[in-house]
Amino acid sequence: MGSMSTYALDPRTTVLIGSITSGLMALVLWLLARATPLPVPGLRTWVAGAWLVFVALVLLGLRDWITPLASVTLGNSALVLAYIVWLAGTHRHFGVRLRWLPWLAAWAAMVAAVTWFVYGDASFRARSVIVAALCSAISAYHALVLLRYPQAERFGRSLGITLTSSWLTILAAVYAIRAVHAALFPQGDSGLLTQDTIQIVYTGSFTVCNLLLVIGFATMASDHVRARIEEQAVRDALTGTLNRQALRECLERARASHKRTGQPFCVAMLDVDHFKKINDNHGHPVGDRVLVHLCRRMAALVRPHDAVARYGGEEFVIVMPQTRLPEAALVAERILLEAVQVDSPTLPAFTVSIGLAESSTDDATADAIITRADAALYQAKARGRNRLERAALRLVNA
Ligand code: GH3
Ligand code: MG
Ligand code: MG
Repeated sequence: MGSMSTYALDPRTTVLIGSITSGLMALVLWLLARATPLPVPGLRTWVAGAWLVFVALVLLGLRDWITPLASVTLGNSALVLAYIVWLAGTHRHFGVRLRWLPWLAAWAAMVAAVTWFVYGDASFRARSVIVAALCSAISAYHALVLLRYPQAERFGRSLGITLTSSWLTILAAVYAIRAVHAALFPQGDSGLLTQDTIQIVYTGSFTVCNLLLVIGFATMASDHVRARIEEQAVRDALTGTLNRQALRECLERARASHKRTGQPFCVAMLDVDHFKKINDNHGHPVGDRVLVHLCRRMAALVRPHDAVARYGGEEFVIVMPQTRLPEAALVAERILLEAVQVDSPTLPAFTVSIGLAESSTDDATADAIITRADAALYQAKARGRNRLERAALRLVNA
C-alpha cells in the first residue's frame, strides 16, 4: 500500500464518493418525479435506474470488505441492469416499448460470465472486457436512440436530449477504451479498485458520467413539462385547437407574409348550426363531444400549413396562409361535407355554416378580414345554413 500516498484519490474513494452522490442524485430525481406538475413518461423508470446505479456503486466500492459474489457479481449486475433500465426509460419517454428480451439475455450472459471469472477461472481482465464492452454497447445504443427517434425532433434541439446524448457518448467511449485496454494489456490482478492511474481515470470518469446522466434525464423531464405547458398556453382545453391568442399570432404571421410576398391568405369562419338544440336535446357533454369530433375532423381535412383555432363557443376560424379564395373554397367545401360525418351512433348528426374571406392589402388590421368572414357567415346562416358563402373583398358600408 506504499503507493497510496502518491495519489490524491484512490479508486475506492472515487467509487464510494460516486455512490454517495449517485444516491443523492437518485433521491433528487425521485423528488422531481413526485413534484412534477404533469406526468413525465419514463421518469419513474429513470429513477429506478438511478437507484440501481447507487446500489451498484456501493457494492463495487465495498470490494474486499464484502464477498466477491456481493461486490463483483451483484455490483456489475446492478450496474448493467441500470443502463438497460435507463434505456427503457428513454423508450418510454418517447412512447415506445423497449424490446427487453435481447438486452436481458445479454445481461444474463454477462452475469454468468462474470460469476465464472470470479469463482471458476478468476480473471479481472476478462471481467473488465465483458462488463465494459456491454456497458459501452448499451450506452452507445442509448445515445443513438436519443438522437434518432423522430419523437425527439418534436422537442427541437432540446437541452436535455443534447446533454443526455453527450454524456452517453462520452460514457460509451470511456467503457470502450476500458474494454480495449483490458483486452490488449495485462491488468493488475486484484480488481476494479487496484491502485493505478488507468483505474482512477476509469472509475472517476464513469462515476462522473453517471451523475451527469441523471442531470440529463432531469433536464429532459423538465423540457417535457415546459413543452407541455407551452402547448397548453396556445391550445383550447376542450378541443385541442389553437386558442384566441394563438389565432392572433397566426393572423399576424399570415398578414406579414402577404405584405412580404404579395400572396394573400384566406380566413374561414365556421359555426355549428343550431348547436343550442344539440345541447338542449342531448345534453352539454354530447355537445362537447360534437365539438371535439368536429375539430379532429377539421385537423385532418385542412392542409399542413393551415391553422384551426377556436374563436369561442361553437365558432372556429381557419387561417390559410398564401391561399387565394378559390383554393380556400375547396378546403371549406371539404369541411362542409366531410367534417360533419359522424361514425359513432352516440353522436347526433349536425351541420356547419362557413363564411370565407380573402385578405386585402387595404386591410388596416387583422380584424378586418375576420369581420368580412363573419359577415359571410351571417349570410350563410341567413340563406339556410349548412352552406358556404364568400365575402366580397370590401364590405359595403363596413
Ligand atoms: P345557429 O345555427 O344560428 O348558430 O344556432 P346556434 O344554436 O348554434 O347558436 P347560438 O349562438 O344560439 O348557440 C350556441 C350555443 O353553444 C350556446 C352555448 O350554450 C353553446 N356552447 C358554447 N360553448 C359550448 C361548449 O363548450 N360546449 C357546449 N356543449 N356548448 C357550448
Ligand atoms: Mg355561434
Ligand atoms: Mg351556431
